[in-house]
Amino acid sequence: MELSNRVKAIKPSSTLAVTARAKALKAQGVDVVSFGAGEPDFDTPQNIKIAATKALDAGVTKYQPTAGTPEARKAVANYMNSQHGYSVGPENVIISCGGKHSLYLAFMALVNPGDEVLLPAPYWVSYPEQVKLAGGTVKELQTTPESDFKITPAQLEAAITPKSKVLVINSPSNPTGTMYSPEELKALADVVAKHPNLLVFSDEIYERLVFGGVKFASFGKLRADVGERTVTFNCLSKTYAMTGWRVGFTIGPAALVKAMDDLQGQMTSNITSFCLPAVVEALGGPQDEVETMRKAFAERGEHIHKRLAKIPGVKCPKPTGAFYVFPDIAEAAFGKKDPAGKVIGTAGDFAAALLEHAKVAVVPGEDFGAPKHIRLSFATSMEQIDKGVDRIADFIKNLKK
Ligand code: PMP
Ligand code: GLU
Repeated sequence: MELSNRVKAIKPSSTLAVTARAKALKAQGVDVVSFGAGEPDFDTPQNIKIAATKALDAGVTKYQPTAGTPEARKAVANYMNSQHGYSVGPENVIISCGGKHSLYLAFMALVNPGDEVLLPAPYWVSYPEQVKLAGGTVKELQTTPESDFKITPAQLEAAITPKSKVLVINSPSNPTGTMYSPEELKALADVVAKHPNLLVFSDEIYERLVFGGVKFASFGKLRADVGERTVTFNCLSKTYAMTGWRVGFTIGPAALVKAMDDLQGQMTSNITSFCLPAVVEALGGPQDEVETMRKAFAERGEHIHKRLAKIPGVKCPKPTGAFYVFPDIAEAAFGKKDPAGKVIGTAGDFAAALLEHAKVAVVPGEDFGAPKHIRLSFATSMEQIDKGVDRIADFIKNLKK
């Protein structure tokens, strides 16, 4: 069977692949420490589960409006208005099958073949593949750990061409765990303001998981003129520990929302019917568990960073948001031999050897556009963090020149 050129051109998701591999090994009884999964280790708060089971019991089991029920779209709009000072209505909101689906629909609705998407690197693995699926071209904007992986206004200005259609901003960032200050974002928005054809996709799915003293700012609120050209993405996955539920939101101009609604209506229809009342409960109900989880991530982030930074040759900016650290392991490991005598030349080699010999799962940096780095998710217990970092430190110590 001859597959389409479209599908032949894309890579599988390495984050999902590592997560699945670690889970499979655990199921076989292997004592794996997994830093792979980009998902909270907490369960979904009970009040949200009850909203869904109540809806299920009440027979909310049929097709719903594609973009979500009026109540659920209103709950998202109210959230954006009260949390971030927007004045959007339900017509500015579409609910899709996870943040990933929201982003994909938006790329498909806005990017034409030949359009450029400006993508600060390191980036989350799915952006470039989604751009490719939409026929666009990715233009990477390289950053370094020394600047906490942030692009500068001058760098952005220099990268913009007449073909540039979208700039992607993801702060707090997956995979780096770092974030821009409101002033830094405003300086980027000032550059965007000079280029009236450039849109901004602001992926804000980690907005509530912030702990390094840097304040979160929603990109679309920085300047009114740029706000009109900004599309904002959020989801329930991370904030409410709901990765498996598949609920994502796009907030944008009504015409774009309508276009995405048309696309979604031909692809997946509404999200699972009884999850829609859960959106209302998650965003409008008690928020204390969000704070409990945020505090846990803050402590774990501090701890894992401290421990990793002590390993000779490992360079690691401190995380201030999300639940990832993204150390540079090149000096510590590249050119050295693993216990089987195989030379480690890439982050992929390192991750494979670490899993095989030390039973620790991490995601190699190649697919994030950062081939000297590995990503560790600290959405796991302190005990697992200590056990895993002990193993990584031992593994690196025992690599042979
Ligand atoms: N954006 C970023 C930056 C992510 O890390 C992820 C994955 N967690 C998503 C979007 C997609 O989120 P979801 O699981 O809701 O599809
Ligand atoms: N986004 C999470 C991660 O980066 C979950 C997997 C995925 O959707 O990529 O690990």
